[in-house]
Amino acid sequence: MARRETGAGPWLVGRISIVATIALLVGLTGAASAATGGAVTPSGSPPPPGSPSGAPAADAPTAGTLSLVSAQAAPRKSFYYGVRYPSLRYEIGSDQPTNDLRIDVVDAAGTTVQSFYRNDVAPNTPSSIRWDGTTAEGRPAPNGRYTFRISPQVGEPVPLARKRGASSSEAPPVNLGFAIYGYAFPVLGTHDFGQSGAMFGAGRSGHTHQGQDVMAECGLPLVAARGGKVRYSGYQGSAGNYLVIDGKGTGFDTAYMHLQEPSPLQPGMTVRTGEPIGLVGDTGNAAGCHLHFEIWTAPGWYEGGTPLDPLPYLERWDRYS
Ligand SMILES: [Zn+2]
Repeated sequence: MARRETGAGPWLVGRISIVATIALLVGLTGAASAATGGAVTPSGSPPPPGSPSGAPAADAPTAGTLSLVSAQAAPRKSFYYGVRYPSLRYEIGSDQPTNDLRIDVVDAAGTTVQSFYRNDVAPNTPSSIRWDGTTAEGRPAPNGRYTFRISPQVGEPVPLARKRGASSSEAPPVNLGFAIYGYAFPVLGTHDFGQSGAMFGAGRSGHTHQGQDVMAECGLPLVAARGGKVRYSGYQGSAGNYLVIDGKGTGFDTAYMHLQEPSPLQPGMTVRTGEPIGLVGDTGNAAGCHLHFEIWTAPGWYEGGTPLDPLPYLERWDRYS
């Protein structure tokens, strides 16, 4: 169990981000490993942009008699600012050569949170959109299950019709549902939250414990609970190998200590939610393998924010990650 981690000094406060050119040189990695808990890979490529929303057809929107030939949402689960955004590949049937479509992202309560407009869509032609997880107001969408819904710009949603000639037992290849979450649990593998000394606020020599310890075997992969920009990556006597991430779309910073090896991520690099950042270790002042995890409120880590008790958050993320 960890004892006496002191926080890092404020000496990196105000450090200006290294621009994305470095990130671009590092290349695109991590998608598979983030999903499977594989090896740590340096990343830093910015997430791909979401598809543009588009605008309704300028003239009177038209569409033929529509059916859905195929539609596949993927992946089934993803994270805000994650390695993969929810995407939809679809193909419509229509008796008209061009069709003005609207594709909504609909939450579990049936409320449309974001809409995409696609004009002059041809039938029997694969198309796709990618949702960046933000609402029409530009905020991260709440955790939960969503569906894509394809409609003509005027009228009812497209029915899930079978292809002409398909047997009645052959369901159309349609899956429109997916889930998106704002945070990933940072340890991939078996873990627990230790005893009372592992908790936020537990006594340490000369101070109190500023985070929550997550007990796990050395070598298990760690992932970014929330993607964003790396604020600090280095070694400090008590913290050991130490990483701080400024969370995208939130005032929170997250801090990770005692990593087995220095994180391959460097300050200024972009990291995505759920992306590998290092391995559980016991470097620095750590009695046993664990992740020491901190959450700092806005404006952030040693920038005027304060650490808060991360346990309720960790428990919530643990339920779905
Ligand atoms: Zn600790």
